[in-house]
Amino acid sequence: MSIHRKRDRIDVALTRLRSHETDCRLCPRECGVNRAAGERGYCNSGRDAVVSHALLHYGEEPVLSGVREGPDDRFSRGIRRSGSGTIFFAGCNLKCLFCQNYQLSWLGRGRPVKDEDLAEMMLDLQDKGALNINLVSPTHFLLPVLRALRIACSKGLQIPLVSNSNGYEKTSVLAHLEGIIDIYLPDLKYFSSPLSLRISEAADYFAQAGEAVKEMACQQPGLVLDDQGIARRGLIVRHLVLPGQGEDTRAILGWMARELGASVAVSLMSQYHPCFRPPEDMMRPLTKEEYRQALSVAEELGFQCLFVQPDSFAPDEHLVPDFDQGEPFQWAGKRNKK
Ligand code: SF4
Repeated sequence: MSIHRKRDRIDVALTRLRSHETDCRLCPRECGVNRAAGERGYCNSGRDAVVSHALLHYGEEPVLSGVREGPDDRFSRGIRRSGSGTIFFAGCNLKCLFCQNYQLSWLGRGRPVKDEDLAEMMLDLQDKGALNINLVSPTHFLLPVLRALRIACSKGLQIPLVSNSNGYEKTSVLAHLEGIIDIYLPDLKYFSSPLSLRISEAADYFAQAGEAVKEMACQQPGLVLDDQGIARRGLIVRHLVLPGQGEDTRAILGWMARELGASVAVSLMSQYHPCFRPPEDMMRPLTKEEYRQALSVAEELGFQCLFVQPDSFAPDEHLVPDFDQGEPFQWAGKRNKK
């Protein structure tokens, strides 16, 4: 799609979603607060986006991050043509008790940015060689993101736009993003309603996220790669396998195979590490056996595009970022999803 058409779509989306500035029902929480007047809903967010970090990320699925060439190659040609241009937003509309990004989702670390500054972050990442713009937890900041995108597109932003969300979204809002989001990267976290209520205070998580993922699949069916193996558009559904929740994983994978088909790209993640305030039964990492069991379910179901992680991590090798640092990730571990 041309930049001009994308800009037109952004204009239409901004017009149709404008009412959420003063009566925010952007996500299934439907708080109905006037964010323009300073009221805060469940996500504790105002009118402007709050950003923690904007960086080149080397730990996403390789079709998003590219492949790292070596520790000394990063600046060897002035600009390194790989890495996902990732923007981490503060706040969250879901707030899981075990969130590994709790410094952002729960504690709200970050700084408010004006639309023009957010646009400059996107352009700066593109200038640094980012393969895409990867918006992490953008749902509650959809309006400032769209406003910033409009500016960035006017100034030459061309790389694909990735919506990297928790999946707890409304189809009626997503419908306005057709032709704007190039790659959907949603989580599908829980199948069981009691589980999602207990961990994320959202009994309707699967009811909402399942429909949201189907809408994403309609907009971006398949995963389209360029000749370097880098994603240009499509859908990748992520599922983090949780300790002691093998049946839930089985139910989610089964639903995906039935509803989306075995050709859907699935990223099956083993990196669970207890963070923030995990419930008693999730105070431990996943075991090798639990992850292998999940993998064998995925293989039985015949998924043709499956991104996987190592089946275990050493205790000091977990992937939990520290957003209090300038560089929150330890790339030396080379643990991106394969
Ligand atoms: S985006 Fe935030 S304020 Fe709006 S409905 Fe969702 S949680 Fe509530």
